[in-house]
Amino acid sequence: MVLSELAARLNCAEYKNWVKAGHCLLLLRACLQGFVGREVIAFHRNLLAAVPGLGPRAACRGGSRCSPRARQFQPQCQVCAEWKREILSHHTNRNGDVHWGNCQPGRWPVDPWEVAKAFMPRGLADKRGPEDCDAVALLNLINSCDHFTVNRKKVTEVIKCRNEIMHSSEMKVSSVWLQEFQMKIQNFLNEFKNIPEIVEVYARIEELLTSDWAVHIPEEDQRDGSACGAGVYLSESQVNEIEMELLKEKLHEMYLQAEEQEVLPEETARRLELVREFLRDNEDLRNGLTDEMQRLDSFHVQPHKLNSGSSGGDT
Ligand SMILES: [Zn+2]
Repeated sequence: MVLSELAARLNCAEYKNWVKAGHCLLLLRACLQGFVGREVIAFHRNLLAAVPGLGPRAACRGGSRCSPRARQFQPQCQVCAEWKREILSHHTNRNGDVHWGNCQPGRWPVDPWEVAKAFMPRGLADKRGPEDCDAVALLNLINSCDHFTVNRKKVTEVIKCRNEIMHSSEMKVSSVWLQEFQMKIQNFLNEFKNIPEIVEVYARIEELLTSDWAVHIPEEDQRDGSACGAGVYLSESQVNEIEMELLKEKLHEMYLQAEEQEVLPEETARRLELVREFLRDNEDLRNGLTDEMQRLDSFHVQPHKLNSGSSGGDT
């Protein structure tokens, strides 16, 4: 790793804010995974208790004909039709977009996570459990499934912030923004006062956001960065890992937006150019993102490939 590049990046306060905000999302994800996993199992159990006909002995008879695509799903068998009805009855966004393409309906009777994915954003077909999901996927599930009793406005506020982080083309946020983010996260976490692992993370997030976020960059000597005292203290490789994860999520989001044609190809190209410019000066990050960049380039070079769907590894 090229330490001088990292040091230069972190000299920019707004970039550092952006990475801090991303670090919060990772902490949020980590503290939600266990809770969400347990609740999804409970939700599935409740569904089967209420409608025993949906249980493990029910089998899809439609085979490949019961395959959803993106937001479309026309069940071809009784079991899938009943499941679809039941999922929608618990969906808070039942009149809006439901990303059926995330799911394998044939697995609904036996796999709670396949059910959970009907309450999540697009592009999660290959995710097998909460440990594979990012914060926004888990937040959307909490928001869209009525099994979760929370103040939904507090959830959507955090989702909105997350989108602002990911869509920031400059990869910068102001300190005022960061303070507001902290408040919104606190409001959200306060909804889970009886879940110790969620309560616990708040102190860590607060400490992270309010600290100067000292980063230990060893000069000549290779002291171990993890042996630290008080305060939030990360080694350069930890910071680098966070940056990498954030950038991957950002590029993946750009990919999904391009694939769904939510943004014009010219706009994708413009955003891509900004990322490329940023990476030009930061070889340490560039090397880890070659695949993601190439994937995005394919849109730019062959925009008509979009419609054929031949590039989709997601569905
Ligand atoms: Zn079926």
